[in-house]
Amino acid sequence: MELKVKKNVSLKEFCTYKTGGSAKFFAEARSPQEMYHLREFAKMQDVPFMLIGGGSNILFSDEGYPGLIVHNKMGKLNIQGELVTAESGVNLAKMVLIASQNNLGGISGLCNVPGSVGGAIYGNAGVPDIYISDVMTHAIILPANGNKPIMVAPDYFQFGYRDSKIKKTRDIILSATFKLRFEPAIKVRAEINRYSQERIIKQPMGNTCGSFFKNPGQFPSAGWLIEQAGCKGMKIGGAEVSPKHANFIMNNGNAKSSDIINLTVKIHQIVKKKFNVELEPEVQIVPNSPFKSQI
Ligand SMILES: Cc1cc2nc3c(=O)[nH]c(=O)nc-3n(C[C@H](O)[C@H](O)[C@H](O)COP(=O)(O)OP(=O)(O)OC[C@H]3O[C@@H](n4cnc5c(N)ncnc54)[C@H](O)[C@@H]3O)c2cc1C
Repeated sequence: MELKVKKNVSLKEFCTYKTGGSAKFFAEARSPQEMYHLREFAKMQDVPFMLIGGGSNILFSDEGYPGLIVHNKMGKLNIQGELVTAESGVNLAKMVLIASQNNLGGISGLCNVPGSVGGAIYGNAGVPDIYISDVMTHAIILPANGNKPIMVAPDYFQFGYRDSKIKKTRDIILSATFKLRFEPAIKVRAEINRYSQERIIKQPMGNTCGSFFKNPGQFPSAGWLIEQAGCKGMKIGGAEVSPKHANFIMNNGNAKSSDIINLTVKIHQIVKKKFNVELEPEVQIVPNSPFKSQI
């Protein structure tokens, strides 16, 4: 199999923060076979391997990535009755829309979560009403230490709040099947519109990864803590704590990754001092995180 691997590719256009350095190696995977062979390529080169979907939960450092970044372009989608099977590179919002056009509902809450189906399963993406794990029936993965795809049940993932076992195992999710429910397209569309309107009111638009920190259990939200600690509107370089939603750390156009990292480290310190809470980042800082909870 001929693999198209490029060298020194800027990662800015592959993540929603639009910051970061270059990947030593970069390639696209359009099939499970290509995915497997690219992982083998990284092993042969003795460099780290990382798969990305929409890049909507990753902050690449300015120094870049010292290994192979594989952009997931596997995009097949199949609907049979109430079951939707999607390859992991399918855009999640697109899956919700296509399902709605086929009179399938039950996942409208995920219509504004950016990124891929694979990225959503990795971090058990969701909104308070629904998590992706609620509707998944099974998935096909390429195990980190295996060379054959296997089918796994949801239990395998040990899903939690923005968490799955995949974060530790580093298995590759190839595809997944979701059980939706028949509902008239017009009703689903109205729900999608309602969720979208709520987002527009509550969240800022721009270059961001959405909520930067996870919500710590004992307080209303991470955004509430950041706001109460007086960090709303705080800036470092081109990075800013959104005046609209304090847990959204924005790249105002010319931020470096280091600006975003320095600002979030500062917020972390201020919140720790005021509330004695260790905020845990939801966004993955690659390759090295300054946060203890991510090392
Ligand atoms: C404006 C905005 C709003 C957001 N709102 C929400 C929200 O409401 N709820 C929510 O949960 N999240 C939200 N997010 C965060 C983000 O959209 C989710 O975390 C999303 O699921 C990430 O998917 P991705 O494809 O972009 O993953 P990426 O950022 O590309 O990758 C994230 C991690 O997943 C791993 N990964 C990706 N694909 C695979 C795969 N196939 N197999 C194994 N590992 C894989 C990567 O290696 C990486 O470690 C928001 C982000 C933005 C920018």
